[in-house]
Amino acid sequence: AVLATTGALAACSTGGSDSESTDGGGSADAIKIGLLLPESKTTRYESFDRPLFEDKLTSLGDYEIVYANADQDAAKQQQQAESALTEGVKVLVLDPVDGAAAASIAEAAAAQDVPVVSYDRLIKSDKVDYYISFDNEQVGVLQGTALVDRLQQDGTTTGMIMINGSPTDANAAEFKKGAHSVIDGSGIPILAEYDTPDWSPDKAQEWAAGQITQFGPEISGVYAANDGTAGGAIAAMKAAGVTPWPPVTGQDAELAAIQRIVAGDQYMTVYKAIKLEAEKAAEVADQLAQGETPEPDTTFQDVPSTLLTPVVVTIDNIQDTVIDDGFYTVDEICTDE
Ligand code: BGC
Repeated sequence: AVLATTGALAACSTGGSDSESTDGGGSADAIKIGLLLPESKTTRYESFDRPLFEDKLTSLGDYEIVYANADQDAAKQQQQAESALTEGVKVLVLDPVDGAAAASIAEAAAAQDVPVVSYDRLIKSDKVDYYISFDNEQVGVLQGTALVDRLQQDGTTTGMIMINGSPTDANAAEFKKGAHSVIDGSGIPILAEYDTPDWSPDKAQEWAAGQITQFGPEISGVYAANDGTAGGAIAAMKAAGVTPWPPVTGQDAELAAIQRIVAGDQYMTVYKAIKLEAEKAAEVADQLAQGETPEPDTTFQDVPSTLLTPVVVTIDNIQDTVIDDGFYTVDEICTDE
């Protein structure tokens, strides 16, 4: 089946996203590598980052992955890191809940000569060996540009609300900076702005509900930093019976978000090729475990880095982006009726 941009799309219905995770892999004398991810409300971590990293790393050698997810709890992540180090991991790949607090994890690892790879979110420490992420400021520029262009085209420029990410995530600051760089000069007023604690979709929903009560139809656009917070805003607008429906931004190309784009509930998302990110992290972890120094593509805040390129997804290019790239099949997106 081919995903057309009209007609057939109406037949698409929503469905959940399921993931299979691999086991830790490795023989009795496998080299242990720690992978610590920040949360699981955003579907990418369990559905993509973890299995793609594990598959790649175990294809590169006799490795066992020591995995933990912190559920957005920085103290829990600290404990998970300590136990990974106690278990004898040779490299720590860490996506921090709190970039500043995670400096103590990087210190502890360095004290045991364990190299640290900062994964997707930056750890604010000079003890980081390598950083792998996307151009996150550009993510914000893409979101802001798509929203401003759409509002100007529609002539609906009364005002937008902005739902940013977690204040403890350095990426959230980059998304926000990129978005403001476009929105601030557009002449479209920002009615209210919120930094969502823990990237919580529920908190985004609650906040959006309050803004809808306060501003009503003056809200002509919704900037949401990722698909989880976009889902919260959309739920709040549905509950309030908002009409006309404002365009909503997002990020991650979550399956539910692609389905909302198809249904017309969400305007855009940002696709980040997680496969490239996770596989690069596995390659870097392998090199560091072998005592090699990975060759960086660039530096970000003085850390040797690889920064990948994000891509806008709207109804017009779902086929050319997430489907052609093998991120989803048409069948996953559209359930035939
Ligand atoms: C990631 C996003 C994700 C968000 C919430 C950010 O650091 O880059 O992809 O949506 O965290 O987990």
